[in-house]
Amino acid sequence: MRIILLGAPGVGKGTQADFISQRLGIPAISTGNLIRDAVSKGSETGRKLKSYIDKGQLVPDEVVTLMLKERISLEDCKNGYILDGFPRTVKQAEALSEMGIEIDKVIDIELSDDEILRRLSGRRVCSSCGATYHILHNRSKKDNRCDKCDSALTVRDDDKPETILERLNVYHAQTEPLINYYKDKGILSLVSSCEKVSDTNELMLEALGATV
Ligand code: AMP
Repeated sequence: MRIILLGAPGVGKGTQADFISQRLGIPAISTGNLIRDAVSKGSETGRKLKSYIDKGQLVPDEVVTLMLKERISLEDCKNGYILDGFPRTVKQAEALSEMGIEIDKVIDIELSDDEILRRLSGRRVCSSCGATYHILHNRSKKDNRCDKCDSALTVRDDDKPETILERLNVYHAQTEPLINYYKDKGILSLVSSCEKVSDTNELMLEALGATV
């Protein structure tokens, strides 16, 4: 099964992608994580990619599409996957379809901009495995340590208030049109992002219906 999670930054796509990944036994693929991995290698390409992330702008379609294509060609993707953060433009969605990839379900996770700003400022990310937490809604068991790998939790550089605003603008201008794109294909479901992660989990399972 191939699933796309849509939604603005901070609605909880990563958390839900992990949840569905465990339920369905298929990998969750975050293009944000793929790009951050490339950045951490410190190559010339990595440095260029970092400049987009730091400004809250999108990495060029061709670059991120190639990274995604390579990732989904790996063996663990043969029974499907969950895409978190891809596609982010209509051009990327068209690239997926040109690759002959059929998407079974698209879930748009919805939240107001005010709430997104509040949530992103409390987000914490594992410096090692990338797992996400929130200081109010999704705390790790040990303060500032990851539940999965016990590494330190950090604040992402692009979760600074001015970058968050730019990321929201970019979302509304370039990614939101994908809601109608997939609605027209008849595979879109809408899910509200709740205060409690477990409530959103329930709504996600409902949206996936008989397939889970
Ligand atoms: P995320 O972790 O999904 O919030 O992504 C962090 C940053 O990575 C974004 O603000 C973009 O700069 C970049 N990025 C992630 N996915 C994409 C994509 N599909 N297209 C372009 N840029 C992306």
